[in-house]
Amino acid sequence: MAQGIPDEIMMDGVLIEDLADVAKDAALLQGVLMRTQESSNLSELVTYAPFTLFPTPVPKAVFLQSLAVQTHYNTLVDKISQDPDFLQEALASTIEVDDFTARLFRIHQQILKEGRAQSITLGLNRSDYMLDQEEDGSSSLKQIEINTIAASFGGLASRTPDVHRQVLKVAGKLEESQRILDNNPAEGLARAVAKAWELYGSERAAVMFLVEESQRNIFDQRCVESELWKRNIPTIRKRFDDVSRTGSLDQDKKLFVDGHEVAVVYFRNGYMPQNYISEQTWDARLLMERSLAVKCPDISTHLAGTKKVQQVLARPGVLERFFPDQPRVVEQIRATFTGLYTLDVGPEGDKTVAMALAAPDRFVLKPQREGGGNNIYGSEICRVLQGANGNTDRAAYILMDKIRPAAVQNYLLRRDSPLKISNCLSELGVFGTYVRHGKDVVMNECAGHLLRTKSSEHSDGGVAAGVAVLDNPLLV
Ligand code: ADP
Ligand code: MG
Repeated sequence: MAQGIPDEIMMDGVLIEDLADVAKDAALLQGVLMRTQESSNLSELVTYAPFTLFPTPVPKAVFLQSLAVQTHYNTLVDKISQDPDFLQEALASTIEVDDFTARLFRIHQQILKEGRAQSITLGLNRSDYMLDQEEDGSSSLKQIEINTIAASFGGLASRTPDVHRQVLKVAGKLEESQRILDNNPAEGLARAVAKAWELYGSERAAVMFLVEESQRNIFDQRCVESELWKRNIPTIRKRFDDVSRTGSLDQDKKLFVDGHEVAVVYFRNGYMPQNYISEQTWDARLLMERSLAVKCPDISTHLAGTKKVQQVLARPGVLERFFPDQPRVVEQIRATFTGLYTLDVGPEGDKTVAMALAAPDRFVLKPQREGGGNNIYGSEICRVLQGANGNTDRAAYILMDKIRPAAVQNYLLRRDSPLKISNCLSELGVFGTYVRHGKDVVMNECAGHLLRTKSSEHSDGGVAAGVAVLDNPLLV
């Protein structure tokens, strides 16, 4: 492992077994927890969230670059959400063929027509990157996507640094253990939520976590919740169904759920079609969007995080629309883009198809979906694009250059998985938070990072999808 963990440690089977035991117990002690599959709605039986035995080397310059660009990404997302013409134009072809995006877009239009009830905006996003391996051996920071809804693992990522520190100490690597960075996205995310709650201005009103049916990853959210409790901010956890059954707006559009006034709705659900199991679920989303509660994200910010918007942003001149007098900012953001290509019907889209068919292994085909496991790779790309040949269906997707990070060896610790060395690829996420009140941006911060690592056998998928595991960067 280049500048990382030496081979004599990596290959010492007895030591690795020992370290794995230490690591798992340290994870439990630190609260790097998950409920089990078989008991996802009870905390009687919990296990460690999957993680790597060792931290992964990440070049310092690229790491700092990812932190430095985050506040600009926050501004960009916020500006897009405030630009209905841009969203309309960017998503026009997609909403013709993608029902889910179309449905979200209809809510967005309805809110615009009625007028937004709340002028406080809260953004908690996470921009994800891989480090593309250049021919000269250096690596460059390339964005995978930006998550503007339900960006997760900021909580558990706040607890993993001490786990890796402990492992490295037991392995006799004291100097490396001191190089593991502190990281506290939980506190950073909570700080922004608290700011929005304060601006809302009612001590009784709660922050509502809008949660999934199955809550395996509850501890990640509890880390943020407990930061809010420290500030004496009441929180409630409700599902779409609770909002459907008990939610209402009063004459001032204040949102009440189960008798509680809601100051902030923090969506940790609602990003996939499967989350909307009935018309009542869609009605509940609309009710929340219409309300005076601060939505994190509001419907326009949700749409700003679509893959189609990401592709449109990469077109010449588009970033300049949002940063007309800030060429340095444009440059900083654009430096993180890899090739993104339209599949809209027309000559440009035809060119994209021809390019993809000629070398499918160079690309990833992406639908407007979140949550992992939806992207299309290799020969499957040809099948989908040939199937949609020349017709509008292909506009549901975008095409993206495949980013090729260098593989690093590590051990992935996961309940019930045998301990074995794997070739691994990592993805770096950076949390960004902002709060805007009317025209005034009152907070815009980078709130920490998340490193996730997966075996190189898998082309797709995150931690919740059971593919990637939590990790920490070891700056080199
Ligand atoms: P989702 O919204 O489903 O999380 P992502 O865009 O994050 O979609 O893609 C899911 C996973 O697929 C990523 O975590 C990454 O492992 C892989 N992936 C996505 N885009 C690329 C790309 N351009 N190059 C290489 N891998 C990619
Ligand atoms: Mg992702």
